[in-house]
Amino acid sequence: MKLFDSVITATQTQLDAFTPQVWDYEERKAWPDVGVSELVLQRDAAYELGGSGFPAVNFTCVTTDSDFIDQNQVLLYGSDLGRLKKDAPYARIALLQIKPLEGDDEAAYRAIRDMEFVKYHVFPKGYMFRISSGDFREQVRVSKTALRNGISFQGVGFDFIRQYLKNPNIVKVKLIFVTEPKAPYKLFQDSAKKANDITKTLTHILDGMATDCSACNLKPICDEVEGMRELHFKQAKKGKAH
Ligand code: SF4
Repeated sequence: MKLFDSVITATQTQLDAFTPQVWDYEERKAWPDVGVSELVLQRDAAYELGGSGFPAVNFTCVTTDSDFIDQNQVLLYGSDLGRLKKDAPYARIALLQIKPLEGDDEAAYRAIRDMEFVKYHVFPKGYMFRISSGDFREQVRVSKTALRNGISFQGVGFDFIRQYLKNPNIVKVKLIFVTEPKAPYKLFQDSAKKANDITKTLTHILDGMATDCSACNLKPICDEVEGMRELHFKQAKKGKAH
């Protein structure tokens, strides 16, 4: 399953110039999760990641290639939450290694499509997301109380990993946070669009769209993403066989 591999490689190359802090996953160090959406009021907000017009990019990539992810880890490029004093640029990039897919196992592809939605089920205490799917923004309001209590990207990242690993198809997770002002957020934004296009195309294919490439508005994606066209033709053939 190579659909997202070019996006993962591009992201890794774009981050090569910077040195991250790295934490291996330990569930017991996950930041408390409140389980439901929590309101961080303006008066209790210390700052917003992606506030004041700063970038706030988020995307998820899925692969079956074990070379991309050594182990469950959180990586941070830039300052940690406790060191930030005001609104800052932000990116959160999730790389997920999934179990090898057998043939054109439709259930597995549907699972990939649904992994994106984990972000709607993570509620770190004092860390309130505002997600806008149209432009891939994930802005975060961080509470003063949480900062006093020692919230960090390590703990928040571990909370995400804990949620991802509840999905039986996910084997390993690398969660990357970026607050480094010099990081290439514009390129991350392009990657977010591409990852979103791939997921969207996957959805259309699974919904049984006809295989007429000459009249298909997703052709630019299939021309660029290795494996997408093969997947559609395989799915279509399977549909006819049933
Ligand atoms: S293979 Fe790609 S371009 Fe062709 S019909 Fe399917 S989605 Fe459209």
